[in-house]
Amino acid sequence: MPRISPRLTTLNEDGNDGWGVFYRARRMVAEGQPVIELTIGEHDIGTDAAILDAMHHAARAGHTGYAMVPGIAGLRQAVAERVQARTGVATRPENVLITPGGQAALFACHMGVCAPGDTALYVDPYYATYPGTIRSTGARAVALRTTAENSFVPEAAALDALARETGPVSLLVNSPNNPTGVVYPRAALDALCQVVADHDMWLISDEVYDTQVWDGTHISPRALPGIADRTLVIGSMSKSHAMTGSRVGWVVGPEPMIAALIDLATCTTYGVPGYIQDAALFALQQGPDMEQAVAAPFARRRALAREILAGQNTVGLVPSGGAMYLFLDIRATGLSGEAFANDLLDTCGIAVMPGESFGASSAGHVRVAMTVDDAVFATALRNLVAFAETRA
Ligand code: PLP
Repeated sequence: MPRISPRLTTLNEDGNDGWGVFYRARRMVAEGQPVIELTIGEHDIGTDAAILDAMHHAARAGHTGYAMVPGIAGLRQAVAERVQARTGVATRPENVLITPGGQAALFACHMGVCAPGDTALYVDPYYATYPGTIRSTGARAVALRTTAENSFVPEAAALDALARETGPVSLLVNSPNNPTGVVYPRAALDALCQVVADHDMWLISDEVYDTQVWDGTHISPRALPGIADRTLVIGSMSKSHAMTGSRVGWVVGPEPMIAALIDLATCTTYGVPGYIQDAALFALQQGPDMEQAVAAPFARRRALAREILAGQNTVGLVPSGGAMYLFLDIRATGLSGEAFANDLLDTCGIAVMPGESFGASSAGHVRVAMTVDDAVFATALRNLVAFAETRA
């Protein structure tokens, strides 16, 4: 067999095998063992029936042919209005590309900013695909480390030092953050944006959790003064409307970049199915009520978690403001996140993700997806705490 491109064979070159617990839990479930899975970011509710009806009607109405590659006009308009309302920055349909989910948007953005051999930065802890997505463009992926002491918020001085050392073309940020749930405060974003501008970089802002905010306010960097022209915002219907399998998201950015990304989409995805886009448009037209209904179980479970975790010292809750995850500091047990997660799975049948799966900054932590029924979630968390106390 001739060679497979190094762009693909190096996608996982950091050898992060932290997903071992997830796959082991899946195997145990397949064998019929009782496991409470708190691993991936998949809602325990399905897509709203009204959205499915809209999809069905659109398909029956014949919207099953090729759709416009940039996205259907109504959906581009609705996304532009949504982003303008949230940022105060004038946004037109020409600033919007509809993509098959946030992941395709992440890939498109990095194709848009990276040439082979460039360096692109991403914040650690990170969503699992970030380094591989950057490498798939032929660029070098370099992590901007954060610390538990600074609540995993990236620091401008550290960014400046790393930018001086590596000469990057872009920085990828994600707030509300997966895995930590941290919502970056305005002052931190202001300072980061200043460094991004000083080094003439692009800012790629992954905002797929922007409807899941429990404390504080989500601020899109696009809203900050003087940065919109170098910012690409990524959105998705996956988390906001429990539409993970429908694969619909977007990039919002300067018109010339969006035009270039439409050329890329013509050569890659060739758009998103029309009936899916019709359903996404219907969902956005329902306004915040529908988004709040999807987010509500996570807010409730987080409040529950706070009660359960209060008054014990073994498991710390990273002070987070959003997203469907808890990030737990288990360093008091003396175990690594990976050892803790494996031991917890074997001892209690509870599957959580080791912090190390999301990068070196989050060693000694575990991520808990709040994606099971409240009662099961509460029991699992109580058992996790009791388990941690036996190891401390
Ligand atoms: N970005 C982050 C931070 C995520 O957590 C995810 C999925 O979990 C994605 C992007 C991709 O989501 P999707 O492609 O379903 O929109």
